Amino acid sequence: MKAHPHLQHSLSVPNFQTQANNSPPTIALPHAHSMSDLNAKGDTKKKKKGDLQFRANFESGNLNKVHVVQDGFEYDLYIRPDTNNANYRLWYYFCVSNAKKNQRVLFTICNFSKQRSLYRQGMAPIVKSTSRPHWECIPSKQVYYYKSYRHGKTYVLSFSFLFDQEDEDYYFAYSFPYTYTDLQRFLHGIEVKQFPYFRRELLGRTVQYRRMDLLTITDFESTAPKKTIAITARIHPGETPASYVCHGLISFLLSDHSFAKMLREIVVFKIIPMLNPDGVFLGNYRCSSMGYDLNRQWMNPASWAHPEIALTRECLLKMSETEEIDFYIDLHSHSTATSSFMFVNLVDSSSTREETLILPKLLDMRAKEFQFADTKCCKDPLKLGTGRRTIGELLKIAKHCYTLEMSFYSYLDPSDATKLVPLNEFNYLELGKNLGLSFLEFYRITQNSSFFLGKK
Ligand SMILES: [Zn+2]
Repeated sequence: MKAHPHLQHSLSVPNFQTQANNSPPTIALPHAHSMSDLNAKGDTKKKKKGDLQFRANFESGNLNKVHVVQDGFEYDLYIRPDTNNANYRLWYYFCVSNAKKNQRVLFTICNFSKQRSLYRQGMAPIVKSTSRPHWECIPSKQVYYYKSYRHGKTYVLSFSFLFDQEDEDYYFAYSFPYTYTDLQRFLHGIEVKQFPYFRRELLGRTVQYRRMDLLTITDFESTAPKKTIAITARIHPGETPASYVCHGLISFLLSDHSFAKMLREIVVFKIIPMLNPDGVFLGNYRCSSMGYDLNRQWMNPASWAHPEIALTRECLLKMSETEEIDFYIDLHSHSTATSSFMFVNLVDSSSTREETLILPKLLDMRAKEFQFADTKCCKDPLKLGTGRRTIGELLKIAKHCYTLEMSFYSYLDPSDATKLVPLNEFNYLELGKNLGLSFLEFYRITQNSSFFLGKK
């Protein structure tokens, strides 16, 4: 489609941040919306069919403004920067409605904060609609990532899209959304089942008074000596695959699977599934509501500015007085890596280094989505304030502290290492389950346990 050289007019997009309303915004999952909802809320004016309507006024939504290049044909889209921090612009999640049947449109996302991107490797935006509620990738042949002279020689993402149905809401996102409400519903669904080996506590409240959940999964009646494994996720709110991995791990640990039962007998899992609920709710990419990258605050968190980290750090330190914390793993997603991998801490002796590498090796053997070969031993001074570095030093467990990074895009095809296969929610859930199985295998190997795991 031909691009037009000048912008005709621009629209501001309804967003949580721009609503002049003191009452808390309604939390709604994207699939709960319909056209009549929109009209009832007054979010849309009656326009002629084909003049697209944009909004992001739902949980984790993000779109700032739209320049109409040519009404009905071409639109330039701008991401809203993280709240109180204009440096980060990557996550987007918005709804388009009022399309005509078979209307073909060119969208361009113009203001990403970084140039390096998996879009160069073939990643594509994802889409779902009212009648097709499962996320799908837009075919990569319709997606272009390039330096645009029309946008001041910056890198932009253009994609063409055919609206094949009328009266549908179409949602577009950077990656598979997983909201604060999704987590609360998941945890509530577990609580009502009253598993004797599950406990949910309120660790504390965020700046905007959302819940910080602390989960314990273990066989409370087992008298076997136990190790503790601490897991955290979503310190970076746009890194939604981390939540799917955490979700997959929790589901596996609570299951009837015989290996899950074995794990519960010898391990206490302490899981904080969402470290930055405010950022997740607001649709930020990296920061908290106050604009802090919380994964640089672990060394000296302030309870007024970073209560999420102060609470978590204090909780882990207190726990270590009575329990043997053996592992700490922080779950993330990577916006430029084509496979999933781990950052590990630099440790002194070669025998300790060997031990550090056992878990990533075991995960590599189980999970096609994960590459041991991409393990990165990291001593970057810029990462001093991260959870992996700080908790490793404070608890003296640096050799077992990891940042697990899931690619936003792909894994290597096991039968052809030159091919990249796009990841979906189910891959991430499966990776979580395989992380659980890798822990069991770790203890079988290192502690001469009688537990036996079959080959994959
Ligand atoms: Zn991250």
